[in-house]
Amino acid sequence: MHPFALSRADDPAKAIAAHAHDPQLVFIAGGTDLIGLMKDRATLPERLLDINGLPNMARIEALPGGGVRIGALARMSDVAADTEVRRRFPVVAEALLFAASGQLRNMASIGGNIMQRTRCAYFRDETGGRCNKRNRGSGCAALHGLNRNHAIFGWSESCVATNPSDLAVALAAMDAIVIVRAKTGERLIPFTDFHRLPGSTPERDNVLDRGDLIIAIEVPANVEARASHYLKVRDRASYEFALVSTAAAVATDGRRIRSARLAMGGVAHKPWRLTAAETGLRGISLDDIDRLRSAIATSFTDARPLAQNAFKVELAQRVALRALQTAGARI
Ligand SMILES: Cc1cc2nc3c(=O)[nH]c(=O)nc-3n(C[C@H](O)[C@H](O)[C@H](O)COP(=O)(O)OP(=O)(O)OC[C@H]3O[C@@H](n4cnc5c(N)ncnc54)[C@H](O)[C@@H]3O)c2cc1C
Ligand code: SF4
Repeated sequence: MHPFALSRADDPAKAIAAHAHDPQLVFIAGGTDLIGLMKDRATLPERLLDINGLPNMARIEALPGGGVRIGALARMSDVAADTEVRRRFPVVAEALLFAASGQLRNMASIGGNIMQRTRCAYFRDETGGRCNKRNRGSGCAALHGLNRNHAIFGWSESCVATNPSDLAVALAAMDAIVIVRAKTGERLIPFTDFHRLPGSTPERDNVLDRGDLIIAIEVPANVEARASHYLKVRDRASYEFALVSTAAAVATDGRRIRSARLAMGGVAHKPWRLTAAETGLRGISLDDIDRLRSAIATSFTDARPLAQNAFKVELAQRVALRALQTAGARI
């Protein structure tokens, strides 16, 4: 194990300043991803700053008007069990409950969850190797190697990895906002802009910089949220990352779709919103399976599967349809 120094933060301004000035320092919350990355030697920080003592960052608040604010240090299990989160945003609670295991969810924080890194086996290989995300310029072993679990949208020759967070898919569908504090003050990042596509800089998963501390995530009220559902398909029924997943939410007039939200996991370097499908679904009856299927297919015309994951193109459309139908049954 790589040796490191551990200290505890009790003041956000000092924690942010320390992170901004010291490139060898990383925040640690639950440690469930970070320690694994250190064991795999994918990251080797010299100093860990434990942020669990920072004040007011673990609260889950129901906001007037129907939204919720979730502190970055709230634990996955607490958020999944929160009555208002379950009532207002079932898709968020379900995405959390389908993730990891009970013990991990008790430790893991919401901020850490959306910051977790890809599960690409080459990236996590402790012996290192050809991985641009791990060592810039070393190549991408997955591009022509083992890529069954990898992206079908938005990938580049530099990296074909997917984002592993289930929660992130639900938050993207709900147009959540990430509240970040830095030395210059607070800024709000729309969730769909938080994670990046790999392009030529796959080492950067998201838009955060040095000295950025996630304070909270706000999920604003929307008309579709109560009829929402998270469906995750994986190689085994528990304790496994998504092969593909969908967060779906829908509002209707009778059985006719007034508006829909669809985001997918396991298909890209970031949660993937099916915007063309969302537009095409308007006005279609929830009972008209053929038209629902055709509307969803419009979001897959630009799918670019790799050698081992063409099956995801069909599977993802089926999962999106099933998730939408289940959400619709909750109206
Ligand atoms: C075996 C296993 C199975 C898993 N299965 C799933 C799954 O099915 N679905 C799923 O979604 N997840 C899964 N996970 C991932 C798990 O959910 C994450 O490890 C966890 O959410 C990370 O939270 P943490 O608090 O432990 O983060 P940490 O490990 O403490 O931190 C992770 C990263 O986030 C940064 N960070 C933490 N908090 C902040 C903050 N407030 N501001 C800025 N940066 C911050 C840290 O610096 C670090 O880089 C699994 C993990 C394991 C080990
Ligand atoms: S897909 Fe990305 S993470 Fe995986 S080997 Fe290629 S560069 Fe590395």
